[in-house]
Amino acid sequence: MPADPPSLLLIVALFVAAAAGWLFGRYRASAGATPPEPNRLSEEYFRGLSFLLDEEPDKALEVFLRMADVDNDTVETHFALGNLYRRRGEVERAIRVHESIMARPSLSDDHRLHAMFALGEDYFRAGLFDRAERLFLQLADGGGRHVQALRYLLRIYEQQRDWEQAIVAYRKLVAVASAEHPTAIAHYHCELAEQMRAKGDFTGAREQLHHARDAQRNFPRGALIRADIALDMNQPELAALLCQRAVELHPKLLTLALPRVMRAMRGTDAVEIERRFRAWMRPDPVARAELAYAAIVAGLEQEPFVRECLPDLLREDPTLGEIVSATSGDPSQLTAEQCTALATALGRILRRTQRYRCVDCGFASAAHFWQCPGCRSWDAFAPVALLDLAPGMYRR
Ligand SMILES: [Zn+2]
Repeated sequence: MPADPPSLLLIVALFVAAAAGWLFGRYRASAGATPPEPNRLSEEYFRGLSFLLDEEPDKALEVFLRMADVDNDTVETHFALGNLYRRRGEVERAIRVHESIMARPSLSDDHRLHAMFALGEDYFRAGLFDRAERLFLQLADGGGRHVQALRYLLRIYEQQRDWEQAIVAYRKLVAVASAEHPTAIAHYHCELAEQMRAKGDFTGAREQLHHARDAQRNFPRGALIRADIALDMNQPELAALLCQRAVELHPKLLTLALPRVMRAMRGTDAVEIERRFRAWMRPDPVARAELAYAAIVAGLEQEPFVRECLPDLLREDPTLGEIVSATSGDPSQLTAEQCTALATALGRILRRTQRYRCVDCGFASAAHFWQCPGCRSWDAFAPVALLDLAPGMYRR
């Protein structure tokens, strides 16, 4: 069976290490010195290499770990071995290799930092976040790997939902480098605001929202949380206005804002509901299509304004439009009854399908996430086209 590319790289590295030991021995011999160590080292490398080629990783690992002569000349090969194990998902073996490097007393400072970082990556991959955190915190204080260590710390705190520590790490990171996700800190404050709101601490929640606004002006998530607080405090009119303002600034929020507006209008008569949602209608056909889509998902398919916007939705989604044309004729000539029946059927389908997709990695879900579970991008979840019949329609 051919070796995979990482194995090939390692094999080359090990072969070079073994050959270097052999050549070094020859040089020492020709210079009249006694060369036992390099030759023995070469033999050990060749033995380890042989086990690797025979797909016996445990025996190979034992050979390499027994080699007492890991010094600053041969340590790179051991790093390559550890990285290979981690890439293959053999994290326990990677940890043993990197721990053995760390245990060497004669390492240079640079190699020690490298080993700490590699071990931190192993622990992270293994889900041993407390151990990884300890190493990355040491590395974050200085040295050549502090930026990468801070980025890992952010990942750890995000996974642990430790938003206060995430804010500290983010501030340290942006003091020395650019942030991977510039809006992340505003989300950390919003996460804290949501935690406080859940506990009924509206003052604390608003304080966090102020911090979020300081970090990111016109931050849509902050506006929606303000609307939630208004709903909690029985201020439905304010909640509806906050939602409307959020959608004006960020039209993609429609699917998140409409359910909140419905909550705000609970108990309101049909005429008022119709008046409210008509205020959201715009002449732009794409905007009208998005309004129809969001309203159908929100359960408003019986509303007259949805019937009016439905032909726009059919025009903007060519595949769906073709289906309707083939079965019912010109989509723009549908009767009110046909529109209502079609919207009702679409509602039943849409509410059971994946309605959001990450524009960065393609992760799809029926639920909305501010941070993509697939690739950790913030603000990358966007509503997708109907049943994905016209990919790209709602992507940014
Ligand atoms: Zn993603």
